[in-house]
Amino acid sequence: MKRIDFLKKIDFVVRKAFVNMSAGEDKQLQSRRKEQLLLVDEYTKKLLQAHQRFTNSLLAEMKVVPLQDGYIGQVADITKIVEMLIQDCEKLAEKYFKVAVNNSKKYLIRFQKFITEADIEKDTLDFNRYFLQSSLFPDIISRFENAEHRVYKSVEATRDGYRKVSDALISRIGMYGGYIWTVGEKALKENAPPGTVANWIGASDERTCSGCNNAFGGNPYPIKQVPEPGSFACKGRCRHAIQIIGGGYRE
Ligand SMILES: [Zn+2]
Repeated sequence: MKRIDFLKKIDFVVRKAFVNMSAGEDKQLQSRRKEQLLLVDEYTKKLLQAHQRFTNSLLAEMKVVPLQDGYIGQVADITKIVEMLIQDCEKLAEKYFKVAVNNSKKYLIRFQKFITEADIEKDTLDFNRYFLQSSLFPDIISRFENAEHRVYKSVEATRDGYRKVSDALISRIGMYGGYIWTVGEKALKENAPPGTVANWIGASDERTCSGCNNAFGGNPYPIKQVPEPGSFACKGRCRHAIQIIGGGYRE
């Protein structure tokens, strides 16, 4: 998928989520969700800019080597270039996860006047780092190791081939960006005081995964039992939300 198509898709998802969520929402939740959706949008765009820088360095560093029957591409220090991308992802997470957590805290405080201070930011950043190192990093490296074995017809085709390998990462990185939604919802759940009661809300249509659909059946939940958006099959695509409906007040 091309970067521009992906950006259009994000805008579509954001708009669609607004429409889907309007039923049964109170004003506080509406404004929190609006903040979170805009955050997902901004964060994903920053990730895609980091990916663009990655593609640029890749193409700048690659050498096209002529063989008897065609050309192959070689990038001497692919590990270094991928590490730069991973570092950019870590920096963006450090900046934006904080915002996601704060959005959720603001919502809780407006609603309940007090919150418990769970260190959700550290846990989610640790998890994010683990994911980057153990999943995204080796995946990108192996894609380019495979690309080095491909023989192309011309110098142009070789460069094009490498650009395509890089472009194929766009939807994976976009999906990865969706985790920030879970960070905000997790923060809401962890920082809500004991006794809080919550609903699972959001769309229920042909595109809703069965885990998310089943979660409606448990409403209303004690806060510790409400499922975490992002924990079902739709993962980074989940736009379901936790809605605080009562309890947990302090006189
Ligand atoms: Zn969902």
